[in-house]
Amino acid sequence: MKGFRDILPENIEKWQLLEETAKSIFKSFGYKEIRTPILEKTLTFERGVGDATDIVEKEMYTFLDKSGESVTLRPEGTAGIARAFIENKLETSVFNKLYYIGPMFRYERPQKGRFRQFHQIGAECFGIKNPAIDAEIIFINKLLFERLNIKANLEINNIGCPVCRPAYTKVLIDYFENYKDSLCTDCQKRLYKNPLRILDCKNEKCKIVVKGAPKLKDYVCKNCQEHYNSTKEYLKALNIEYIENDMLVRGLDYYTSFVFEFTNTITLSAGGRYDNLISDLGGGNICGVGFALGEERLIDMMDTKVQNNIDIYIANLSVTFYALQILQILKNFPYSVYCEYSSKSLKSMLKKADKLNTSVSIIIGENEQKSNTCIVRNMKSSNQQTIGVEQLENILKGVFYVT
Ligand code: ATP
Ligand code: MG
Repeated sequence: MKGFRDILPENIEKWQLLEETAKSIFKSFGYKEIRTPILEKTLTFERGVGDATDIVEKEMYTFLDKSGESVTLRPEGTAGIARAFIENKLETSVFNKLYYIGPMFRYERPQKGRFRQFHQIGAECFGIKNPAIDAEIIFINKLLFERLNIKANLEINNIGCPVCRPAYTKVLIDYFENYKDSLCTDCQKRLYKNPLRILDCKNEKCKIVVKGAPKLKDYVCKNCQEHYNSTKEYLKALNIEYIENDMLVRGLDYYTSFVFEFTNTITLSAGGRYDNLISDLGGGNICGVGFALGEERLIDMMDTKVQNNIDIYIANLSVTFYALQILQILKNFPYSVYCEYSSKSLKSMLKKADKLNTSVSIIIGENEQKSNTCIVRNMKSSNQQTIGVEQLENILKGVFYVT
């Protein structure tokens, strides 16, 4: 299906490395995993992400379930987590630093780095006003890139809040009205509904008009300005370099004041503060900040060599009971073991052992079964020796631990 992909065993090591690295970093910063349903009521995204955004207007997989309720495959993680936060009264929980990993769905035009099912790793922190948490989120995001050897530039911006944004929106509409005919049809429609989104339009003609547009930073209120300035100070304290990009707006309406993106030709991750999301979804006056990264885009940039990591291959020449006995002995040792149960020839078994990139094959046939022995073959040197099974542990230690 267009925009949907299978992730095959050949590539799974990269995915696992990415996710395990992320999990260990989150853990080391005291973040707890949250898992929310992939399907949510459509209203959660309409109210959370915003009904004048591209995501809600054009990109959602929405359908009526058998009871006639409108439901949607989640296009992003934050709105569902905010909904879960409210429903589970998480404001009373000590766990307000959360992370998630999982699939998201957007009906977009598939192209490089853009799929209809894609995967995000993200974090959310609720109820912390101090701008240091914005810096911590960025610190974690950057650390993950560093551990994976991925270069990325940090761009930041201040997009204001419901106090200061209306005045800016007004001057923005006045400005764009003068160039209405030069805007794409999408932006002409957005002009009165959500003019800020025009700043983010990827259409070349719109980009030219946007260059001369008034800047939000000239209109932000004192609170937003102070928050933004402090965040920058904390970023400096953490030695994190950033570029201020006053054209950076996010594709989701819930963001307020501080927003950011990590880019390397394309956007790898993005996030910011969303101080009104919880209250917009019917919860209390609880602020939040978070980020999400696209796993597919990161995987594309990882130069990790994918290695099959099977240590031992049991070449079972029709002595399955004996093979199972050996499997039981090996399970006490820290090796990965692939046991063969088909009736291939020894030659094709050893070929398979090579393809699995194993270090050792244990060859067993009727003779070995009778004498309670096995042939241990070093797959790198092709040397082999017959040993008693009681010697297996020592011999394998020699292969795996002595270089
Ligand atoms: P873009 O401007 O590229 O459409 P976005 O603003 O829609 O991105 P977010 O909703 O902020 O992106 O999602 C965060 C990250 O998730 C993106 O930076 C990107 O890495 C990834 N992402 C978003 N949409 C897709 C997609 N359709 N396929 C693959 N990755 C995606
Ligand atoms: Mg998008």
